[in-house]
Amino acid sequence: MKHLLFSLGSLFLASTVNAYTPEFIYKPASALELSLPNQKVTGTHRDRFVKPYEVQRLTKNIYWISVANYNVTAVVGNKSVMLIDAPHGTGKNLLQAIKSFTDKPLSTIVYSHAHADHVGDSHVIAKQLAPKQLNILSSTEVKNALETHKVTLPLKVTHTFDNTLKFEGHTIQVHDNFNGHTPDNTVFILEEHGRKVIHAIDLVHPDQLEFRSFSNVEDAIAYKNDIDTLMALDWDVMVTGHSNLGYKADVQFVQDYIIDVQNFIRQGLEKTDFSKHFKGESPFTWYAGYTNEIIDFAHKKMAEKYRKGREEEFDIVAYSHVRVMFWAMFARAL
Ligand SMILES: [Zn+2]
Repeated sequence: MKHLLFSLGSLFLASTVNAYTPEFIYKPASALELSLPNQKVTGTHRDRFVKPYEVQRLTKNIYWISVANYNVTAVVGNKSVMLIDAPHGTGKNLLQAIKSFTDKPLSTIVYSHAHADHVGDSHVIAKQLAPKQLNILSSTEVKNALETHKVTLPLKVTHTFDNTLKFEGHTIQVHDNFNGHTPDNTVFILEEHGRKVIHAIDLVHPDQLEFRSFSNVEDAIAYKNDIDTLMALDWDVMVTGHSNLGYKADVQFVQDYIIDVQNFIRQGLEKTDFSKHFKGESPFTWYAGYTNEIIDFAHKKMAEKYRKGREEEFDIVAYSHVRVMFWAMFARAL
């Protein structure tokens, strides 16, 4: 009887938990077995950092590869392999990882955005594969951003694409309407046998709070829009820039977190009196006192809701989340 009551209690709890905490299944990464819906990879950040690589098969020909907490998507085509991204410092391990699931050669690297930490090892890979030439693909926006920002570590883009990318039997949707992390950030949806894999970098990082300033977001309001767009798109499993495999529930967590940051900032704006800070001669002092009071208030409210159980990471990143969002909202009077 005691056992029955216990099970009923668990059932009740299960039905009342937040929509964004479904039952994830944690299993060791497998290059052979397809992942199940809501399956994530077991292990800590430390494990993921010290292992030479981890591979998880997502569909018959699409794989998640993780090296040193950087993730890429690998697509096996009719004759060769395509990688989406080639993070700095991962090149040799990525080539090893590919060998764990196919004998086909790597022919193509696609760049998701113009940050060298995600695409910088294309030159290392090219050196390993020489004299064979690699195709380097990106959107025109990424190609231009690499040139404008003088990012010279990654190999030069050899071909550009628009809203569809074709690779040896795969047709990949290209979404270029993501502008928060960087204006050129490109999101890809790959479909095989009814399963849709999304490759979305530096936006959502499952099983952790977001990195400092939401991964050094260039525009926090555009970033919020990106999260809404990610939520609205149709896909099943996400390859993220770092951390674990992602699902809609992980995106929803970030979406709710941002809504809370914004609401607490609005409450802070409402209750804070600028005239109280109008002391001394310098406008820097007036504004610092006023804006810090709002940011501190919102940060305190976020701590009440999100700090418990993840104190270490909250204390490192949460203040930056509030601050970056505050200034993006303040500038636009949102
Ligand atoms: Zn980035």
